[in-house]
Parts: sequence; structure tokens; C-alpha cells
Amino acid sequence: MEMIFATKNKGKIKEIKQILPDFDILSMEDAGISIDIIEDGKTFIENAIKKASEIAKISGKIALADDSGLEIDFLNGTPGIHSARYLGENTPYVEKNNHILHEMENVPEQQRTARFVCAIAAVFPNGKIITAQDTIEGRIAFESKGTNGFGYDPIFFVPELGKTTAELSPEQKNAISHRGKALQKMKQLLLQEEVH
Ligand code: IMP
Repeated sequence: MEMIFATKNKGKIKEIKQILPDFDILSMEDAGISIDIIEDGKTFIENAIKKASEIAKISGKIALADDSGLEIDFLNGTPGIHSARYLGENTPYVEKNNHILHEMENVPEQQRTARFVCAIAAVFPNGKIITAQDTIEGRIAFESKGTNGFGYDPIFFVPELGKTTAELSPEQKNAISHRGKALQKMKQLLLQEEVH
């Protein structure tokens, strides 16, 4: 059965198709849908459900959506659900990351804990909602490192690997990332629904 993933991000669609090869996933572009959905929920899950619900309503098909972000404990969970808009939507990530490194300048290692969070919702044409969420725990690095990935990856250090997520290959990152793990959980839930 066809499912629409509610994102305009080509990188995300590619990653999702790799993780869910048994499902017939369409991008919003493939489905001819081009609306902008306002993310005004208070949690990652609320935002994911809102995006998926609107696309399911418009298309009459199963819709999937995700919402993700970075939570920094020392900054009380900032930027959290505002990760994409933090310091302005169009501000380059080099600037956003340098700003965070500056704010965390004298913060000792043990207090630099942070996590990426990813929530995914699937909304069925009959209104049924399924959700999955996962995280990857790490620390804010003392300096930017690596050129892979996107967003906050160069400052997100994974202690077990001794690397930032920007120093991992896409396959290495998918295997341990918030999005990779949440998608795997969603895959299991969808298989139980027998929609593949
Ligand atoms: P979304 O597309 O609304 O989920 O926006 C999530 C935002 O959180 C992105 O624009 C990034 O700023 C940040 N983010 C989420 N996942 C990652 C990741 O895997 N690496 C780096 N930044 C991420």
C-alpha cells in the first residue's frame, strides 16, 4: 500500500526508503502535495501527528511524518522542538553551532549531556494513529568536527564512538541515530498492522 511521508526533505526520504524497503513510500512531491504545515505543537509527537494527520486528510492515504531536534540539558532542553528555527530558520548551522559552543564554553564534560530526539507518527485514513519515538544520547563537543550529516551533527559527540555524528558514515549514523531507531520501531508497528 502507498504511504506518503510528510517531508520536503529529499535526504530524509532517501533515508526512510533505505530503512523501510518493503513499503511503498511517496514523498509529498511524488504525491503532488505542496502545503506548508505549521509546527505549533508542544512536543515532538504532537508535531509529528499534526503533520501526518493533515497529509492523511488531504490524500486519503496512510501518512507518516517525523519531528526531531536536539535537547541540551545544561540549556534546559534548548533548542528542543525549536531546533530548526533556533536563532532563525535561515541562520547557517556553522553560526548556530558556534553559538552553542560559546554558551557551553566553560561547562565541564559531565554537564554537557544532550540528545537527539525523533518522533514519528503514522496516521491512517480511518483516523487511527500510531507513534514511535527514540533518542541518541551524547554530549555537546568542545569544538565542531566532521562534515557528514547536517544540522547540529558537528557538535554532537557520541562518547562510545569517540566521534561526532558528523564524523560517521550515513550507514553508521542510521544504525544508532534517533531517526534510525524510531523508524525501526515504526517499521515493526506497521508490520503488525499488515500494511506492507
Ligand atoms: P525537523 O525537520 O522539523 O524534524 O527539524 C529537525 C531539526 O532538528 C533539524 O533542522 C536540525 O536542526 C535538528 N536535527 C534533527 N535531527 C538531526 C540530526 O540527525 N543531526 C543534526 N541535526 C538534527
